[in-house]
Order: sequence, then C-alpha cells, then structure tokens
Amino acid sequence: MIDIDYKNGIKILLDEYKDVLDEEIKKGLIWRYKIEDRKLSYEDQQGLLKDIIVQLLVQGRSAKGIETQLNNIKEIIGEWSIENIEKNLDSLGMSDRKIQRLTEILQHLKSSSIDDWIIELHEDNNHIPRMGLKSDDDFLKTHGFYEHIPVDRHTQRFLFRTGIIRWYLKRNNDDVLTLFAGAYEGKYRLFQKIVVAFCKKFCSDVYIQTPNGELRLAENPGILDIVIWRHCGENENLGCRNICGNRPKCNECVLKGACLWYILR
Ligand code: SF4
Repeated sequence: MIDIDYKNGIKILLDEYKDVLDEEIKKGLIWRYKIEDRKLSYEDQQGLLKDIIVQLLVQGRSAKGIETQLNNIKEIIGEWSIENIEKNLDSLGMSDRKIQRLTEILQHLKSSSIDDWIIELHEDNNHIPRMGLKSDDDFLKTHGFYEHIPVDRHTQRFLFRTGIIRWYLKRNNDDVLTLFAGAYEGKYRLFQKIVVAFCKKFCSDVYIQTPNGELRLAENPGILDIVIWRHCGENENLGCRNICGNRPKCNECVLKGACLWYILR
C-alpha cells in the first residue's frame, strides 16, 4: 500500500493559492453575512439574480464566452431585476429546461425573498425551486457557504489522479464500479462524500484564516474547491493555472509529493 502524505500536500496546495483564497473567501463571507443578516441592498439582490443566471448559463458547458453573453443580456434587459428578466426570458440564450427552472425560481422569489431562498438552499430544503445539483453548490460556495462542495470534471479528475478515490474505496472496501453506475445524482453525491471524508481524515487541523476568525477545512470543504478549480481549470483568463488540466504539468505542481499519479509515473 502506497502511503501518501495528503495532509502536508493539501497544506502546501492551500499555501500556494493563499492570495487568491484570501481574496475569494473575504468576498464570499461578506455575501454570507449580508444574506444571513438580511442586509442585502437592492444592488446586491440584482447581483445575486445575475449570479443565478450565470449558474444556469454555464450549466452543462464551460464558462468560455460567458462574459460576452452576460454583457449582451444586460444590454437587452437593462437592470438585473426579476421583472426585466421575466420579460426577456427568450433573450437569455437558455434551453427550455433552464428557462423552466429560472421561471420557477423567479416565481418563488416574488413570494419570498432572495436571502430566504438562499438560506433554504443552504439548509437543503427540497421544497424550493433549485438550479441543479452542481449549480446550487457552486452558487452557495461562491457566496460564502463553504459547507457545500460543487463537483465538476476538474474535481473528479483531481480525485482520481491524486489517489484520493483509491484511498476512499480501499478504506470502505467499496466497489469502484459504484463511481460509474447509477444515476447522476447518486454519483454526484458519492464524489461529494469522498471529498468530505477526505477533508475530515486529513484536514482536521487545517484552518483558513479569515478577517472574522478561522474556518476549519474539515467543515468547509468548499474552500478546497476554490483551490482545485484554480489548480486544475484550463481557462487562464479566469485565473486558472491549468496545472492539473487535461494534460497534467506534474513537474510544475506543488502537490506532486502527495499525488499518486506522480508517484506512479
Ligand atoms: S502531480 Fe500531476 S497529476 Fe498530480 S495533482 Fe499535480 S499535476 Fe495533477
């Protein structure tokens, strides 16, 4: 059995991305406090509506070209208000399924409020309209709810390459086929479970300093996603370093000492 020092590896990885992590967490927590304290300004609410649109637009595709698409939408609708979005649903460039989801969310927001909806999303209330599994988690994580970890292809690839999946399956004596069989939701939840178990096992004493105190990674696995995305994402215009992308640049990778892929090279 190959023994990998994941704990040290994760600390090195977090340190490598410290600046961007500090900046994103600071922004995320400001959102979270405003949402939880019900202190969203009208502009904040518009910003959140725009973020919902972004999540739906990138669902099932890459974020490439999203900025241009948003600018075009903004030109058509003007302000990011519920009314303006409702009036221009056909101009958003979304599939019927996404428009249906958006319509249900907007209806809900009209009888509730966006902060209540986000809190319910965070508390896993299945009775409210949602964007979709990964979109919900990504939205929550972006707004400071780091208990949630979105799982995308970067995360999955990272988990496979580093051997974290191997560690999890071996520990539980699980069948590797469970990762490929079954419906999307079951697989998505399993990947999340693996990240959570990994953080609990190897990051129990890893803390992230924030302006309002420290956050324990074990309870806030979404923070790890910020780093994984920057490390593995290919879009350098969005701040990704493309180190562990489709062609891993292991020699440039700070995690190589704690990565099965590199150890087995
Ligand atoms: S060592 Fe290579 S495979 Fe492992 S995380 Fe780094 S880039 Fe990816």
